[in-house]
Amino acid sequence: MSHGIKDKVIVITGASSGLGECTARHLSALGATLVLGARRADRLHTLVADLEKQGGKAVAVTTDVTQKVQVEALVKTAVDTYGRVDVLLNNAGLMQQSMLGSLKTDEWDNMIDVNIKGTLYGIAAVLPYMKAQKSGHIINVSSVAGHKVTPAGAVYCATKHAVRAISEGLRSEVKEWNLRTTTISPGAVATELTDHITEKEIGAGIRDFYKHHAVGPDSFARIVEFALNQPAEVDINEILYRPTSQQL
Ligand code: NDP
Repeated sequence: MSHGIKDKVIVITGASSGLGECTARHLSALGATLVLGARRADRLHTLVADLEKQGGKAVAVTTDVTQKVQVEALVKTAVDTYGRVDVLLNNAGLMQQSMLGSLKTDEWDNMIDVNIKGTLYGIAAVLPYMKAQKSGHIINVSSVAGHKVTPAGAVYCATKHAVRAISEGLRSEVKEWNLRTTTISPGAVATELTDHITEKEIGAGIRDFYKHHAVGPDSFARIVEFALNQPAEVDINEILYRPTSQQL
């Protein structure tokens, strides 16, 4: 049993699929208490039932991270139900690759709202509690796209660069409250992420790349475990990882 994780109250956004769901299962098996947010309530309830069947403790809160009050309610559920919030995994995200010239401005708005504003709303919701506790750990999810910019990726890459900038700013501001901050930047991981690309050819190309190179979401869950499991005085700030076969 992991002492850095057992009985920690961990809020995960985007817990209904992919990295969030896999990490919820992984942390639950290590004894964490989970508060799970996403829009697809049916998926969250199935997940909670699964975790409980295996002896885990978890609660589902239907949450759209673009709505500040819903993110506040997610975190308040953690505090009201379990008395505290130890970790926020700010994971909800959306990737809709297209060339800027295609003028998919609604998709630009979606990515900015979910990836940037959603991340900020998560930070805003936990900070007052974590400052009062003088303990806490915020994990933000960037990407290789937060380190590189690719054609058709301008807006997604911009949002993931923003996540890294926000995380570094946060890191430098929360020392006096003893808070830890981690940014995890994955390469290609097999999830539903590529399902939301509406440009036919670009989507097909990216999905083909993922088919040949993507690794499983357990890769991410193990990294979250590593960051959480460090002694309190050690703050893992950034982890960038890729499938071994990924060149970009
Ligand atoms: P998935 O599409 O499988 O999961 C995305 C999650 O985000 C879902 O649970 C979805 O839940 C949630 N989400 C999307 N929009 C909202 C919203 N408005 N409010 C609340 N939740 C929302 O993809 P991944 O698991 O791969 O994505 C997780 C994170 O990892 C994202 O931030 C992504 O950018 C990042 N990432 C992923 C990589 C990959 O290759 N898979 C690589 C690098 C980074 P619901 O639809 O139910 O609301």
